[in-house]
Amino acid sequence: MFNTKDDAILYPINHSCAHLLAQAVSNIYSDVKFWVGPVVEEGFYYDMDLGEATIKEEDFPKIEKEMKRLAKDGKRIVGRKVTKKEAQDFFKDNPYKLYLIDKFDEDSDEISFYTQGDFTDLCRGGHVESLKELKYFKLLKVAGAYWLNDSKNKMLTRVYGIAFDSEEKLKAYENYLEECKARDHRKLGKELDIFMTSELVGPGLNLWLPNGAVIRRTLERYIVDKELERGYHHVYTPVLASSELYKISGHWDHYKDGMYPVMKMDKEEVVLRPMNCPHHMLLFKNSLHSYRDLPIRIGELGQDFRYEKSGAVMGLERVRGMCQNDAHIFVRKDQIKEEIKGVVELILDVYKDFNIKNYKFRLSLKGDDNEKYYNDPSMWENAENSLREILNELNVEYYEAKDEAAFYGPKLDVQIKTALGHELTLSTCQLDFLLPRKFDLYYIDENNEKVTPVVIHRAILGTFERFSAYLIEEYKGAMPLWLAPTQVMVIPVHHEYHLEYAKNIVTELRKLGFRTELNAKNEKLGYRVREANSQKIPIQLVVGEGEVSNNTITLRRFGSRNQVSYEKNELYKLIEIENKTKFIYEEDNNNN
Ligand SMILES: [Zn+2]
Ligand SMILES: [Zn+2]
Repeated sequence: MFNTKDDAILYPINHSCAHLLAQAVSNIYSDVKFWVGPVVEEGFYYDMDLGEATIKEEDFPKIEKEMKRLAKDGKRIVGRKVTKKEAQDFFKDNPYKLYLIDKFDEDSDEISFYTQGDFTDLCRGGHVESLKELKYFKLLKVAGAYWLNDSKNKMLTRVYGIAFDSEEKLKAYENYLEECKARDHRKLGKELDIFMTSELVGPGLNLWLPNGAVIRRTLERYIVDKELERGYHHVYTPVLASSELYKISGHWDHYKDGMYPVMKMDKEEVVLRPMNCPHHMLLFKNSLHSYRDLPIRIGELGQDFRYEKSGAVMGLERVRGMCQNDAHIFVRKDQIKEEIKGVVELILDVYKDFNIKNYKFRLSLKGDDNEKYYNDPSMWENAENSLREILNELNVEYYEAKDEAAFYGPKLDVQIKTALGHELTLSTCQLDFLLPRKFDLYYIDENNEKVTPVVIHRAILGTFERFSAYLIEEYKGAMPLWLAPTQVMVIPVHHEYHLEYAKNIVTELRKLGFRTELNAKNEKLGYRVREANSQKIPIQLVVGEGEVSNNTITLRRFGSRNQVSYEKNELYKLIEIENKTKFIYEEDNNNN
């Protein structure tokens, strides 16, 4: 979205701005030792050892002011080659730069210094000519970063910033940051009581509060129903398994870093599962299958645990404990195409319900290096062609990614673009020729021979954690009626006079299955309406004198100033239709 790294104009501006930041910091703080300051996708950062001093976001205005002063002064950025000896002498008190200089040969002619005014840095180049060109920049955040990314090393201070070549671009970026903040699911998750974390439980392990639980339960019921309708069978399997299971599946050798450590008890050795596949292989193996029984579709809302670095976990988006909308489909080779088609149709069906329009399928194929991929050329060719044919037949937009397949088979995943322009992988569908072999799975074919089935791993909503984070950010916390934790808030104009009528409406709506609450607090009507708005409740029903005597209800929607009166049963019908059709209300701008 704002890619400064691959932009020919923005790269030198951001790179030079990193030097400018370092120069300003060295003017304000004494004895700063700088490490490196690269350009990243969104701006730049500089890592520095401030000794005893610290930089907080409150210090940004002061640093930015100094950067502006230096930029205005407009010194040229001048480069020159230096010898290794010269570089070592210059940076003799800076162990970080010395570490870099040490990497060069004794007689290297590739070491260069860049100087702007009285500030010199070790650098390969790629700058603007003069600091004058740096006008539109902004410091973004400060974080700690271990030197060389190793927690045994000293924690350095990393200051992030970004720079543009015009005021409009900087403004656009600032607006984008505002929008990010407004949509941030961690902020909204707190404000709307959706989830919480606690140090006593641990990073990346979220606790779903009642409001979040409603959203999750609604999603769970929704997707399970969709799958049952398509002939899936849902199961429950435990989150623990003997480490032996993962030795058979191969995860022990290839996925151990992503798993929680082993628990040892007496002679047993168990682990928390990182995925559900091995358990499901055992379910298939539990009974004898004829070729006529296939495909067999085993679904589970499977709870998994993966070890993520504590610094990498983020809200509901990157977690250590997650529940997957998972399934494994066991098919004959001749059923691959038909079955994948069913999965793609399910994906499209679900996307329609969530109004997901900005997506692309990515078809990941085998590369030329045969060593890298499971050795069965005809299986690969057949599978890859089938996937391609399905995408063409269904007329969906897709692109091919060669050499991106898994070792055990080609895959199909869906990249969606979020409201903030970020890309994320939502649904996946992978063919697997290998896992069924590892577990000696087979079915009996028409000639009474044992044949290994092919497994399709697929996830539609991905994890409920990440999908919920996505929905919260897409809808800015204002869930459509069918997903809203509280769907209807009934507000009597007077907390006593109109209470009985309001209570009747609550009872009637609850009977119809709507999550309905009453706000009859002894507060002003306007205050109670604002309360319903801050909770982003989609349907707000106000009843007063007129409503009681005419048996009507006045409807307000979240985010709208309009009020419309309905006959009671007419309104109930309207809400029922909206709920059933997963209607997403959008304010008609002409009515504002
Ligand atoms: Zn430079
Ligand atoms: Zn799987």
